[in-house]
Amino acid sequence: MTISKTLEISVGHRLHLYVGPCSNFHGHNYKVNIHIDYSQEENFIRKEGFYIDFAKLKKIIVEAYDHKFLMSMDDQYVTDIKKLNLPGFKFVPYSPTAENIAIDMAGLLYNLIKKKNGNLESVKIEIFETSNSSVIFAIHNNR
Ligand SMILES: [Zn+2]
Repeated sequence: MTISKTLEISVGHRLHLYVGPCSNFHGHNYKVNIHIDYSQEENFIRKEGFYIDFAKLKKIIVEAYDHKFLMSMDDQYVTDIKKLNLPGFKFVPYSPTAENIAIDMAGLLYNLIKKKNGNLESVKIEIFETSNSSVIFAIHNNR
């Protein structure tokens, strides 16, 4: 069974290694499609009714990324930004491209869900940076 959730988040970022406009401080309204696969277990689902609450799924992603500014810890401006103690900055150990945000997001969900439900098979994230550009990344359970 696959549980899917689509949501939108507003995220700022700066690609410090990129030569071009994406090295400026800017942001996107990302559309995120989450697909969570569980192994079939009819008895469980008939009793409990659901694997994961859609609202909880949204809350996890919103709290971690929405209205945050993602900045690589290697960015030359990190020291200055930290001194300003501005709200909403999230310093990450990667260049905050859609690719890396998808990897980070899938890992976050996978680890949280895996702890609670051993029937988790995979977490797949598709992030649209624009309406016609997206990245897909999945983590599979290798039992
Ligand atoms: Zn961008």
